[in-house]
Amino acid sequence: MHRDSLAVGGRLAALGARDLLRQRRTIDAWPRSGDGTQAEVAGQTLRVFCSNDYLGLAHHPALASAQQAASAQLGAGSGASHLISGHSSEHHALEEELAAYTGRERTLLFSTGYMANLGVLGALVARGEIVLEDRLNHASLIDGARLSGARLLRYAHADAADAAERLAAHPNCTMLASDGLFSMDGDVAPLRELAAAALAQRAWLLVDDAHGLGVLGASGRGALELAGLDAASVPLLMGTLGKAFGSFGAFVAGDREVIELLQQQARTYIYTTALPPGVAAAARAALALSQRESWRRVQLQQRVDHFRNGAAALGLPLCASTSPIQPLIVGEDARCARLGAALFAHGFWVGAIRAPTVPAGAARLRITFSANHRVADIDALLEALASEWRAEFAS
Ligand SMILES: *Cc1c(COP(=O)(O)O)cnc(C)c1O
Repeated sequence: MHRDSLAVGGRLAALGARDLLRQRRTIDAWPRSGDGTQAEVAGQTLRVFCSNDYLGLAHHPALASAQQAASAQLGAGSGASHLISGHSSEHHALEEELAAYTGRERTLLFSTGYMANLGVLGALVARGEIVLEDRLNHASLIDGARLSGARLLRYAHADAADAAERLAAHPNCTMLASDGLFSMDGDVAPLRELAAAALAQRAWLLVDDAHGLGVLGASGRGALELAGLDAASVPLLMGTLGKAFGSFGAFVAGDREVIELLQQQARTYIYTTALPPGVAAAARAALALSQRESWRRVQLQQRVDHFRNGAAALGLPLCASTSPIQPLIVGEDARCARLGAALFAHGFWVGAIRAPTVPAGAARLRITFSANHRVADIDALLEALASEWRAEFAS
């Protein structure tokens, strides 16, 4: 194929014409030390409302010092994959602590959540089988199913009856997979009903709780705790360490046998370098802090409630979500981009999420909260939001 046939320039221009070019911004500093709610970008101080650092741990000094100590002792890099010489005592301890935390026999660390989902689906689902997924599942669950060679069927978002019907109609459906807390809508999957449907058809159930873990449930153990589901009902749980746990990496939790099979056969586990040991150490520190400091979850929910009450009073179109992910549906991509830019100019950094991350016509501001957010900053955000929203929709 001739390079011109890729039409790179034309494709970029087409994205630009549809307001779909994504911009990244370089952060030079985090002025409020240890708190992670303010970032300095090109000389401007932004109040950050788009991070997944829900418990406010990413900038906690305990994580940085654990990371430094482990790096000094075990190296800045792991030097190899887990099955060669990359598996350190920090990785091992983290796996055991995560198993205790999730109430499972074993866990296996992956370098990212994206890779964990590719690995699980690739190892457990065979070509010719069927994987059933929620229509709004995270891209990594979709890609994992595609890469496995299985046929991917999707059910209507959060519709357990639709899922059960499709499962019953396709006896060779071996895996049902769902986000626990949906990343772009902030709603929780109907996990009890999905678990019953999967059990009835003897299909695997994989719950990706990247956003729920550390946040949802009485003790923060995520969407499964909130739903009162144990390991017998949800045999496979994927969790990430880069969101509420403020570090990086991911894990899959399950029974001893299935985790051993993943260790033997998940290609994204085998053919990649293990996380740096310091990253595992930081995640251990976060896991301990998240359990010891339950005030973080309480304060996080207070901040979310404060925002929702304020937004409702201002007539902003809130979604049903009561989680730290608060979408405001804008509709058109161009409007959403303009609103995001206007808020940025006011010093508020929120997500302006457009297609293909969300369905066309459902572009949204995605506002996320941290336990460390100050009430005064939330009030200031609400004020700017209300005035920019009015200006945008008056035109
Ligand atoms: C963030 C996320 C992932 C990917 O995790 P990374 O560790 O960032 O690769 C997977 N699933 C869901 C639902 C997520 O939100």
